[in-house]
Amino acid sequence: MRTKIIDVKDNKLDTGQLDLIADAFKEGKLVVFPTETVYGLGADGFNSDACKKIFEAKGRPGDNPLILHIAYISQMDDLVLDFPDLAKTLADEFWPGPLTMILKRSKRVPDAVTAGLDTVAIRMPSHPIAREILKYSGLPIAAPSANLSGKPSPTAFKRVFEDLNGKVDIIVDGGQADYGIESTVVDLTVKPPMILRPGGVTPEELRKIIPQIEIDNAVIDASDKRVPKSPGQKYKHYAPEAECYTFAGRLPSVVAEINRKIQQEKGKKIAVLATDETVEDYKGAYIVINLGSRENLIEVAHNLFEALRKCDDEKVDLIYAEGFELRGLGVGIMNRLLKASGGRVKFGL
Ligand code: AMP
Ligand code: MG
Repeated sequence: MRTKIIDVKDNKLDTGQLDLIADAFKEGKLVVFPTETVYGLGADGFNSDACKKIFEAKGRPGDNPLILHIAYISQMDDLVLDFPDLAKTLADEFWPGPLTMILKRSKRVPDAVTAGLDTVAIRMPSHPIAREILKYSGLPIAAPSANLSGKPSPTAFKRVFEDLNGKVDIIVDGGQADYGIESTVVDLTVKPPMILRPGGVTPEELRKIIPQIEIDNAVIDASDKRVPKSPGQKYKHYAPEAECYTFAGRLPSVVAEINRKIQQEKGKKIAVLATDETVEDYKGAYIVINLGSRENLIEVAHNLFEALRKCDDEKVDLIYAEGFELRGLGVGIMNRLLKASGGRVKFGL
């Protein structure tokens, strides 16, 4: 398949571009577009065959459901059996933005979207390009992250192109995604509601509205061997080619431990994922990538997936990553690092 690239400047699509994209969705085609979290690989969420193509293009396991993206609250009526007050409050507070809600699905939502579950995941993105596309097409758009399954999610057009050129009909090049990690997924069909995947909206922000909210421990604790409750979280994910290890605890001890490991593995090509605070402190690594300041976790989240992809570009043998405290955006960042490390995490340094 020949993939058409639509280059969008200053977040403004012209009507010709919008028509092309809306027509593509109507014809059951695949369109990649930027959102504020990561790039999404979209298809008409009411079109079962089109949604099945998403799984083929990504190599996504069939039991990993998709998130529906909407532009207007009024679209909810077509998608859910019931839109409870709590969900409305969360929508008021966090939409448009990086929060995905799991609710009871309506019959109109095809099995291809929900992987046969009786619930559906929905979010209203805030990225201006995503919003324009969703408004103009008027459809709920099913869109998982626009990477090949198992790879780090793409935050830059270049990575989308590497993974999906020739596999999708259109790629919209809209520059960098802001958050860099995916949306927070909250299940509102259980009592108390549960965070199934930490992401752009923090647990603390959610607790202000739902004090009793819980978080699926299996997604943030490497020693918890239970199967995560969100189907997608049980898969190998965000995985760079190199073996990745994460070290968490007091920063001076983390730096000392990583330096010790670098010495131990002399002769291997090693990448360190460091921060502003530590970037000068590593000796003997092949490459030290600075994720940004610990005082600004948005920056760290924004740079994380690109750093993992860079490690692939550089063909390193080992990645040693600094950990982060389990609060604020740090929860989402640690979840992605746990996945990238396949559970190889040392806590309590
Ligand atoms: P992605 O779109 O690639 O960011 O992945 C979507 C995430 O949402 C995956 O982790 C899915 O397992 C999760 N998800 C989607 N629908 C549901 C659902 N109905 N119940 C639980 N998790 C879901
Ligand atoms: Mg994904």
